[in-house]
Amino acid sequence: AREAYVAAHPASQALHERARQVMPGGNTRSVLMYSPFPTAMEKGEGCHLRDVDGRDYLDLCGEYTAGLFGHSEQRIHDAVREALGRGLNLAAVGAAETSLAGLICGRFPSVELVRFTNSGTEANLMALTAARAFTGRDAVLAFRGGYHGGVLLFPLSGTNPATVPFPFVMADYNDVEGTVALIREHADRLAAVIIEPMLGSGGCIPARPDFLAALRQATTEAGIVLIFDEVMTSRMSGGGMQARLGITPDLTTLGKYMAGGMSFGAFGGSADIMGLFDGRIAHAGTFNNNVLSMAAGNVALGKIFTPEVAETLFARGEAMRARLNGILTGMGTTMHFSGIGSMATAQFRAGPIERPEPPTAEEEALRELFFFDILASGIYLARRGMIALSLPVGEAELDRLAAAVADFAEARAALLP
Ligand code: PMP
Repeated sequence: AREAYVAAHPASQALHERARQVMPGGNTRSVLMYSPFPTAMEKGEGCHLRDVDGRDYLDLCGEYTAGLFGHSEQRIHDAVREALGRGLNLAAVGAAETSLAGLICGRFPSVELVRFTNSGTEANLMALTAARAFTGRDAVLAFRGGYHGGVLLFPLSGTNPATVPFPFVMADYNDVEGTVALIREHADRLAAVIIEPMLGSGGCIPARPDFLAALRQATTEAGIVLIFDEVMTSRMSGGGMQARLGITPDLTTLGKYMAGGMSFGAFGGSADIMGLFDGRIAHAGTFNNNVLSMAAGNVALGKIFTPEVAETLFARGEAMRARLNGILTGMGTTMHFSGIGSMATAQFRAGPIERPEPPTAEEEALRELFFFDILASGIYLARRGMIALSLPVGEAELDRLAAAVADFAEARAALLP
């Protein structure tokens, strides 16, 4: 699979060679880097991509959930063009940020007040800062295998040398007793518990509702700020996973698709915590209210990704996963797709998976084989085997995916668990 990939992608390889001379590792976004070199894309339309070697792909990577609207949604392009027509970088507040803030406050149960950032990473850094200021404590409880941004990633073992120097207490995902015990033990130093309601990068592993409910209760009892990182999961309903589950955190962080595909992040929550930003805590950022993101966000959230559309996409994703898993079970393998709604990750061990574990060498090899086989069939996924459906993906595209997964399972049957 590897030799065929190299032979088929000479332009990507040449670009990588040049990139390595000017960027360490040949890249400026770690997730896009893989061996022997990543496929470089030239353009996209709808849910389709063309690489620099002229090969076409069905795009089911969906820009790691930020590409919810596909590459050429007319209403978003129009909104951006219209904003461009009124000029870039006005160094001033404007109406679009207030209306986008209003849309978000109206939809996410925990969000009474909200502020914008440029990325999900910044949103999480600011939410943690707010929790520390609000509680007067400094430590944060996070989960092994969780991901909250480039400087807030938590490996399964050891520590990430790039993690900003907040003191972190690490817990195991979906471990009710262990986590509640840690919260009680460290109550007097914990400012926040931060959690993705479904681990995204960690493998599309959903939190059990009883686990999230236990976190809600234990943090309330100890006066600890509960933060839901809904940067990825906010797509699961009009009001994110919190609305779907009926569990309301104190703070929520958002990002990805919410500005229609433009750079975006936001953090929001209860008026007593967010009120600290009335001047007591500063939060600046040249591009926080950049006119392109604000304009695109109003259309994206207000006009296109309505709560009804969110439900439709969720149902389409549930049906997709059931179909793929039906095919795989029928072929006698425990390979399956984890996830909820419109997000899924290929797993090469029996489910249901409660928390990520270090992959075995066989799993690593199968994950790589799956990515390159599916790519060769003309479907672009995240290298880790993650699918994030975008709105332009329809039945014909899902048929193609089902056929590609069935072909993979048949061709590689001897290797699968
Ligand atoms: N939180 C989660 C759950 C994410 O998946 C990501 C990005 N993959 C982030 C935060 C960071 O967002 P950004 O890449 O916009 O900084």
